[in-house]
This record gives sequence, C-alpha cells and structure tokens, in this order.
Amino acid sequence: MPKRSPYVQSLKKAGYRLTQARLTVLDVLEADHGHITSADVLAKVERINPAIGRASVFRTLELFTQLGFIRPTYIDTSHTPSYVMMRGGHHHHVICTDCKRFFEFENCGLEAMTRNLQRELDMQISGHLLEFYGVCADCRGEDRAEQPS
Ligand SMILES: [Zn+2]
Ligand SMILES: [Zn+2]
Ligand SMILES: [Zn+2]
Repeated sequence: MPKRSPYVQSLKKAGYRLTQARLTVLDVLEADHGHITSADVLAKVERINPAIGRASVFRTLELFTQLGFIRPTYIDTSHTPSYVMMRGGHHHHVICTDCKRFFEFENCGLEAMTRNLQRELDMQISGHLLEFYGVCADCRGEDRAEQPS
C-alpha cells in the first residue's frame, strides 16, 4: 500500500479508518490519475479484492468526494460520472471536443482569483475544477512538421 499517499494521510487526519475498501479504491483512482468512471472503479476493485462489495465502493467514492479528494465530472450526455483527482485541491484540463481526449495541465495561475473570491464572497474556498474545450492538433489534421515549434 502506498503509505506516503497524501490522501492516506488526510484520511487518517480526518479520523477515518484505513479500511481495505478505502485503500483499494484510492489505489485504483491514483493508478489512473483519476479519470475513471464508477463502473471502471467497481471492475478494478473487484479484480484486486472481490471481497469488497459494490455498496462500499460507492460509499467510499461518496466519502472521497465529500473530503475533496475527487470530483465527479459529466462529459456530454454520460449518465455515470468520471471521477478526477483533486491534487492539492485543484484539477485542470482541456478536452478535445472531437476525440474526447483529456489534456491535463498543472499551472492554473488562479491563486489571485481564489483570494479575491474568498474576500468578495466571504467563502472559505477549498479547491477548483477547471475545464477548457477545444480541438487538438491530431483532430485538426495538421501536419506537425509544418507547425512552427
Ligand atoms: Zn483532468
Ligand atoms: Zn482530438
Ligand atoms: Zn488550479
């Protein structure tokens, strides 16, 4: 088990027991960098430890959402959410509207906006999920060799 996972530390600090269900769901989420549907989480958890029931997987996903570890996202008309990891309280990506691929990025530069929102709205802000939409180079069919670098 990845004992050094910051999420394991957060669970302990929040007073939650490190049950097999919680640790296994965390492993599955972290292995996939968090773009994963609940159906995929269920399937993977079952493969790792069939003793963990569906209900406890769903309860664990709810708990992790509550604790701000993950956020559910809904792409297009999907009925089941995809969960994304909220590393350090934030998550950012650009989605290609053609191939539906995700392009993750780290630096959002939103610290100043966060401070302003906290002040203006009197909110204790715990994180953000930032989603941009566009069309990737592959889908535009542009030859990379002709692109200025
Ligand atoms: Zn993402
Ligand atoms: Zn694309
Ligand atoms: Zn951010």
